[in-house]
Parts: sequence; structure tokens; C-alpha cells
Amino acid sequence: MKMYIAGEWVDKAETMDVVNPYDGSVVDTVPRGDAADIDRAIDSAERGAKVMAAMSAHERYEIIHRAADLMLERLDDLGRTITLEEGKVLAEGMGEASRAQETIVLSAEEAKRLTGETLDLSGASNGAGKFGFTLRVPCGVVAAITPFNFPLNLVCHKVGPALAAGNSIIIKPASDTPLSALKLTEIFVDAGLPAEAIQCVTGSGGVIGDAISSNPKVRKISFTGSRDVGEHICQVAGLKKVTMELGSNAPLIVMPDADLEKVAAATANTGFANAGQVCISTQRVFASNEVYGDFIDALKPAVEALTTGNPLDSDVKMGPMIRVQDAERVEAWVQEAVGSGASVVTGGTREGTMHAPTILADVAPEMKVSCDEIFGPALGISRIDDIDQAIAMANDTNYGLSAAIFTENLNWALQFAQQVESGNIHINWGTQWRADLMPYGGLKESGMGKEGPKYAVEEMTETKMVVIH
Ligand code: NAP
Repeated sequence: MKMYIAGEWVDKAETMDVVNPYDGSVVDTVPRGDAADIDRAIDSAERGAKVMAAMSAHERYEIIHRAADLMLERLDDLGRTITLEEGKVLAEGMGEASRAQETIVLSAEEAKRLTGETLDLSGASNGAGKFGFTLRVPCGVVAAITPFNFPLNLVCHKVGPALAAGNSIIIKPASDTPLSALKLTEIFVDAGLPAEAIQCVTGSGGVIGDAISSNPKVRKISFTGSRDVGEHICQVAGLKKVTMELGSNAPLIVMPDADLEKVAAATANTGFANAGQVCISTQRVFASNEVYGDFIDALKPAVEALTTGNPLDSDVKMGPMIRVQDAERVEAWVQEAVGSGASVVTGGTREGTMHAPTILADVAPEMKVSCDEIFGPALGISRIDDIDQAIAMANDTNYGLSAAIFTENLNWALQFAQQVESGNIHINWGTQWRADLMPYGGLKESGMGKEGPKYAVEEMTETKMVVIH
């Protein structure tokens, strides 16, 4: 596919292959954009931002809604594209495409709900006779830098709210998975969005990233990706707004009163979907001493039932990892844990990009599989004595994106909700669950700011205070 800059589909002599992670075949190629392409896109987006700011909210709603309708018509192609470039099984690819469509519908609705507040300024000692209200205005040019693992829905979580709020948007999709973002761009163009309101530039983030982050014409960066790249972007960004949706090593606590069959089903689901390449994948499981052995006995068959193979095959439950190096990293971390005293309950093997779904028992906090983000199909189980120790261990990390507890005890559940340092808390389900309308984002080094169209619109607007004297 070509990239989209200044209202034109643009090709380049230098291209990048988009590779099917399962079999290494080339799905398509995209242009290798450079810093000059970024500059051109930003200049065009500056003009696009003026057009968007002048457009009525209803018109923005209509365009975004038309895009949602087109997504429905093209849903099969979107779902298949996700699977081909990312490697998640087709049911998950289709699921992501449906969620992405819903994200765009939600964004269209938010275009009609930009409100401010009135202020009774007479409450101030110098405010008698004054009337005040706030106006919400778009930031201008918004840049969306996105990861490989949800190549459509996470792009929609930035494009939809940015346009709803009256901004223009520049998308820099992950180089492994740019096709979904390009197809979304095509959809918005077909839906009648003004040409310069959207740009999609492909190219290596390490090469063109700083040209986006450092440019003062970009007023807002919305980034989803790894902690270290996020920190780098914050350092380069200077005086502009940023939203950071970063990684985690999500904890799940199993208390002695939990329904172990339910925990096992949820853990297998939330630890291994998309081969564990989800920012809120269950990674650190803390199981009460009283049920430790029984829980492992319940979890083992649930994980062993996750058949692996070609993600296009409907019998397959788990596909490959995105790159061989990532599968090798998971393998090395598993081996490090085993060398330090952990034991393999199931899995632990790798072939190319396919790493077997893996359970480790007797994991210690200092092992990489526990203290770092594994972002792959492996989770580690450790013992806990009581709720206080469980919460302390859950909090013993620089991350804080999602955390879960299984218990029927309301006091334990509420203590967990209040004391665990995490942006998302789940009671009686695993860490990996999201409704696209809810506020979503991390605490600590898992990021700052919230997504979910209503909340992202807030992050993508500025507030003006108006005083009538
Ligand atoms: P990544 O390596 O950080 O890449 C994310 C994006 O940043 C890609 O588009 C990448 O471009 C770009 N990039 C790389 N270097 C850059 C630079 N110097 N300046 C600007 N942009 C740069 O992350 P990933 O491997 O794609 O995704 C996995 C990570 O994302 C995990 O840590 C996961 O937890 C996190 N994540 C978080 C959430 C959340 O909502 N909190 C959701 C999904 C994923 P290239 O692809 O061209 O390198």
C-alpha cells in the first residue's frame, strides 16, 4: 500500500516488507518514509487542523459515523488484514475489527458532546457582577504513534477522538503492522474527511520518530507502546501535551475462597490471548498457599488446550509472536527463571515465532519473567500467605496498568481495589478485559492520561476560560 500525505497516496523507491509472522511470507510492502515526509505531513496537517476546527460538530459527527458504516462494510477485510500482519487468530482479528468499529461509533457520538462549564465568579472576593464559562477547543495537530499488537483498534482510539474534537491527525503506525492503519485512513478519505485532516506516514520509528515528537507544530502526541520509547518521546516532545499508554506486568491474585475452575478459565484466556502480546496480559499470578497446588492442577489442562498453529485456521487458539527475536526473548527469560529455581508446569519450548503457551511455578519477584514485561505467552505463579502480602507483591513493580483478584470476600475485594496501584482493577475476572467506552490507562510507569473516546477527547482539547465583566 502507499502512505497518505497532504491529500495524496504517496509511494517511495525504498519500501518496507510487511511480513506474516506465522510463515514469513510477504503480505504487502509500504513506503519507507523519512523525516522530510514527516515535515510535509505536519505542514499539511496544520492546514487540515484549521479546516477541522472550522467544521461544525454535527458535520464531524456525520463524517466519523460514515467512516464507521464503511468499516462495517469492510469488516471481513479489516479482520483478515489484522491477522495477516499481526498473527493473532482470525477470531481475535475479527473481534478487534468489530471493537474498532465500535470505537469509531463512540467517537462520532463524542463529537456532539463537547461541553464546558459555567462558573459563579461571585464566589471570589473580587468576582461580584462577573460571569464565567469555559470553552473546549481542539489542540490542533495531533500525532498518533501506535504499537503492533492492536494495529486497528488502538489507531481508532486516537483517530476517532482527535477528529471528534476538531483536530487533524498524523498516524505513525508500527512498522510491523501498518496495513490496518492505512486501510482505516482510506476509509476516512472515502467517508469524506477533508483531505488534509488525516495523514498516515509509514517508516521506522527510530528514524522518523523524533521528527514528529520534536516538531512544535504538533500540539499533542498520543503514544501507545513500550515504556522506554514512551520515555524517549516525552524527553524529545518539549512543551506539548502527551498521553502515554505503556506496558505492564499485570498481577492476578487467587484467594483461598476463589472458584478455581473459573480462575483457570480466566487465566488461560487473559494470559494467552494474542500469544500474550497484550499490554494487560496476566503475567504474575499470586495464589494462596491453601489452593496453590489445586489451582495449578486446574490451570494446566486449560492452557494445554490452547492449540497453536496458523492463525487463519479456525481450530487454532493461539498464533505466533510478532518476530523471532521476541519469541527468543521469552524463551531466554523462561530459561533464566528455571535456572533460578522456577519450574515449568507446561510449555517452555519454541520453534521460530511460535512459543508454546507456558506456565512457570515457584517464580520469585527478581526473575525477569516477573519484574519485567514479558509480552509473550508465558506466566509465572508465586505463593502468597494472605491479602496483605498479595497486595504488597502486586505493587512491587514500576508498572500499574491492570490488576485482578478472585475472591468472594467483599472486604478483600475492596481492600484490593483501594490499595493496588493500577489504572484498571478487575474483581473475579483476569487482568485482560476492556470495554472501549471506559476510561483506560495506567498508573506509575504504565503511563499517563486516559483513552476511551470520551476521555481521549478531553485529552485532545484545551480549555479556555471566558470572563464577562
Ligand atoms: P514500541 O516498540 O514501543 O513501538 C511503538 C511505536 O513507537 C511504533 O510505531 C514504533 O515504530 C514507534 N517508535 C519506535 N521508536 C520510536 C522513537 N524513537 N520515536 C517515536 N516513535 C518510535 O512498542 P511495540 O513493540 O510496537 O508494542 C508493544 C508495547 O506496547 C508493549 O510494551 C505494550 O505493553 C505496549 N502497549 C500498551 C498499551 C496500552 O494501552 N497501555 C496497548 C498496547 C501495547 P516502529 O514500529 O517503526 O519501530
